Amino acid sequence: MYPSILKKLIQTLAHLPGLGEKSATRICLFLISHPELCELLGDLIRELPFKLKLCKFCRNLSEEEVCFICKDDTRNKEVICVVENPVNVFNIESLKIYNGLYFVLHYLISPKEGIGPKELGLDYLFYLIKIKEIKELIIALSSTVNGEITASYILENLQNLPIKVTKIACGIPMGMELQFADPLTLKKALQRREILKGS
Ligand SMILES: [Zn+2]
Repeated sequence: MYPSILKKLIQTLAHLPGLGEKSATRICLFLISHPELCELLGDLIRELPFKLKLCKFCRNLSEEEVCFICKDDTRNKEVICVVENPVNVFNIESLKIYNGLYFVLHYLISPKEGIGPKELGLDYLFYLIKIKEIKELIIALSSTVNGEITASYILENLQNLPIKVTKIACGIPMGMELQFADPLTLKKALQRREILKGS
């Protein structure tokens, strides 16, 4: 059997998304022969929760109070794209076709799990729309049940505001999480978005 420290590390790593016990063991055996990497990883992981915060406007991960996207004066500040998580921001940014702002929910509304609009920061989003001159809100959420519930909630709450609401739809198969869409599908979905509500 493995020594207990190794066993503990394997079990801990095996809990991470995408890793099972086999790959966790492989990583651990690799780390044993790379002590400098162990030290670097240890430092980075220890610092991570202290160095990262949520941008006070868009709730994307940032080392500063305001993230580099919100700070960028060349961005179109009249458009906000609502996404579930920072991976979605990264994926859309890498397409280089979108120049607006984002709002990161970090969750989707899920009655089953007791996750409501509050956890998603939606009141803050509606407040931002009211005080800033936002002309279009793009809903770029997964076409899963919770994604649809969240999209409907957002749309409902914007009915009385003078804002255009669009939603990426085309090409993202039902039930698929947005972060797993390939770049071409995501690009098409963003370019051919459907209008849910005119301004
Ligand atoms: Zn930001």
